[in-house]
Amino acid sequence: MPSSAKPSRFRLPDDVRPVGYDLHLEPDLAAGRFRGDVRIAARLERPRAAVVLHAADLRIEKARAVVGGTEMPARVSYQRADETATLRFARPLPAGEVTLVLRYAAPLNQHLRGFYAAGADGRRYAFTQCEAADARRVLPCFDEPAFKARFRVAVTVREGEAVVSNAPIEREEQVAGGRIVRFAPTPPLSSYLLAVAVGPLEPSPVRYCGATPIRIWHVPGKGHLTELGLEAAVEALRRLEEYFGIPYPYGKLDLVAAPDFEAGAMENAGAVFFRETLLLLDPATASLNEHKRAAEVIAHELAHMWYGDLVTMAWWDDLWLNEAFATWMAYRVVDDWRPEWRMWHGFEHDRAGALALDALANTHPIYAVVRSVAEATENFDAITYEKGAAVVRMIEHYLGAEDFRGGVRVYMRRHREANAVAGDLWRALEEASGKEVTRVAQAWIETAGFPLVVIAPAPGRDGRALRVRQERFFADPRVPAARRRGRWPVPLVVRFGGDGGSEVARFLVDRAADTVELPDASGVDWYFGNADAGGFYRVLHDPTTRAALRAQLGEGLSAVERLALAGDTWALVRAARVPIDAFLDLVDALGDETDYDVLEGLGGPLDVIDQQVAAPDSTEQRRLREWIAARFGPALDALGWSVAPGEEDGTRLRRAALVRLVGGVAEAPAVLAEARRRLDAYLADRHALDPNLADPVVGLAARAGDEALYARYREVVVAATTPQERRRFLLSLASFRTPSTIRRLLAAVLTPEIPTQDVTFVLMRLLANPVARADTWTFLTRRWAAIRRRVPPLMLSRLVEATPALRETRYAREVGRFFRAHPVPEAARALRQALEVFRLNAELRRRAAPALARWLAQRAPDRTT
Ligand SMILES: [Zn+2]
Repeated sequence: MPSSAKPSRFRLPDDVRPVGYDLHLEPDLAAGRFRGDVRIAARLERPRAAVVLHAADLRIEKARAVVGGTEMPARVSYQRADETATLRFARPLPAGEVTLVLRYAAPLNQHLRGFYAAGADGRRYAFTQCEAADARRVLPCFDEPAFKARFRVAVTVREGEAVVSNAPIEREEQVAGGRIVRFAPTPPLSSYLLAVAVGPLEPSPVRYCGATPIRIWHVPGKGHLTELGLEAAVEALRRLEEYFGIPYPYGKLDLVAAPDFEAGAMENAGAVFFRETLLLLDPATASLNEHKRAAEVIAHELAHMWYGDLVTMAWWDDLWLNEAFATWMAYRVVDDWRPEWRMWHGFEHDRAGALALDALANTHPIYAVVRSVAEATENFDAITYEKGAAVVRMIEHYLGAEDFRGGVRVYMRRHREANAVAGDLWRALEEASGKEVTRVAQAWIETAGFPLVVIAPAPGRDGRALRVRQERFFADPRVPAARRRGRWPVPLVVRFGGDGGSEVARFLVDRAADTVELPDASGVDWYFGNADAGGFYRVLHDPTTRAALRAQLGEGLSAVERLALAGDTWALVRAARVPIDAFLDLVDALGDETDYDVLEGLGGPLDVIDQQVAAPDSTEQRRLREWIAARFGPALDALGWSVAPGEEDGTRLRRAALVRLVGGVAEAPAVLAEARRRLDAYLADRHALDPNLADPVVGLAARAGDEALYARYREVVVAATTPQERRRFLLSLASFRTPSTIRRLLAAVLTPEIPTQDVTFVLMRLLANPVARADTWTFLTRRWAAIRRRVPPLMLSRLVEATPALRETRYAREVGRFFRAHPVPEAARALRQALEVFRLNAELRRRAAPALARWLAQRAPDRTT
């Protein structure tokens, strides 16, 4: 998982390599600072009068080298722009073994990076967050992933403070006012995986996976929320050991719930840190999505224990593979543990997000040369994680699961405790499968964008043969044909059906245009060009097939295929390849849809039509909402809001998806009123509402809420007994539409009332709130200096990405002007993407609004023709 990093182009020379760090930290939580002593055993390949290491915001008080018992004092100078310190010696250090001894001091910072301070319930804590390049804020070190070394950590803590680090505790010594906790040495680790957590944390009871003890650490009072996390960790670890064929490498496993944390979680070897919402759950009140997300993130981080920690990328350019592999692996592991959660259906929502981003002209290839850590940081997005995972999945499908695992095992054994590049994995997969992997993989990871596969029956072949053509897909209809030329080795999987059900045929389509033959079957009535939605591409079917597929929504197509069909159709509308009627007709035909993932997938596009295409408060917007309510309201009425005895998860999730459509998008008054009634019951008793309805009910009730309700939400945030409840009510403060509450929330955003980790999410929700968005933008521009200081750069990118919600073209100009005047280097691409989306939305509005009006007028009960 990512962190942010200041731009630094500096790379250390490789003729000085660390072998081991002996690190002693003395954090003073009350004073907000720490001291450190470190002895670095290093090997010099040649004599050196100067040694350069990474160090940022550290004050080095003393530095010397010890060579064979001789002490050599060092003079220290800092190169702040490079985040390095240089140790200069009166005469050169000889080649061979030397020990560098440094004493230093630094503040515990407030910015969720390096060694930082965090508070909860009036108690103080300190956590490390070192990826990508912030270990240099914890100790002077060789802060690049290829410099693996053993860490022997000791921490002096005060009375009442616990401490967790990567390795098991070796021994403890009492000292005045506290104790020194000494940890065993770690196996060789990259510096970005170093972990220390200090403060009044409490452990859960120990759970074992084989011989590995697993514990969850949390702030006091949350011990009853650890059961699901422990179970998910045990189940994931067991499956991962079995998959990789290598036992868990780090002796013990501590999972730490940090009350303020930048990323979702961080895969520190043996001591994984999480946001509380992703580790601490009350099974009785958490929604199924919250369960799934926590299990997925836990499995993701544990997959990194092998893929990333044990075998580490040589440099940040291969970071994508770390993340893509862990993302894919997590879905696989959780799907195996809880098949009823249908993890791969959930992945379809993520794939949709990656496809949308990758259709922009301002996308990027999964792989890019990375010169600096800032460039690596910029790449932490849906392309790296979700497109990467989709490509890994496509390669697994193409090779077969057995051969793929065989190759992964070869790769892990060959490079354990060392570093590797992506090419090493492709070679291992080729050895294990006997198939061509490097070329196929490289085409997908080194080319920006993805193919649109255009399919039509070959003339005169009775539907038995299909003409297949590929081009690069752009969301922008104005991209000229010359730029659309693109060729991928497409693993094309076609579902086709006739009288006797459906079958699947597989092809590798390499050429720009080709004809594929379906196997002999009794008859081909219809086909769908992306069976199981396994491929990372969009499909444009011929018009006859599009009509035939609408007739297959009931049984021919699986749920995930219906979801992909809706996603493709909407993308093709945006790209001006099919008229908006095609999408509206499809949604109309899905009115009786019973699958919650399909219903969930309609919400995003319908919201864009409502917020971006229809004019605010127009007849079209009213008719659109009436149509959505008429189409999906009856299903919600039939289900009712109360859970029937013995009701399945699928039904509960369908109800939640319908509430989102009819209440969230269509804002049907009856649903909003019912949400408010349910909220009152929920506030009185947290078990009065199905957990899956908690998010929509709390969010919808806020939309019509007054000052008194706002005050009530704030009380709930302060008194919340679970991290999920806290998050739910905190983010919903941004959904209130009373001007006074909007002003109040904006005034609170930069105060301690909102933890740093949540600032961006609150602001994004405010930008999505039609009544708050203009004031929020004004606030952003006026308070930018303070936001920039407080919020880590990676989160600023997310904020920039959210600006197209401002809708009007004049805002596009303002956003562009503002961020050109106040540049955020890590968000440079996010800005180009946001401006492109602004432009695409305006183009869609001009083109599709008249057709939308016509389509709705034909269905409106009040039409006057
Ligand atoms: Zn990760």
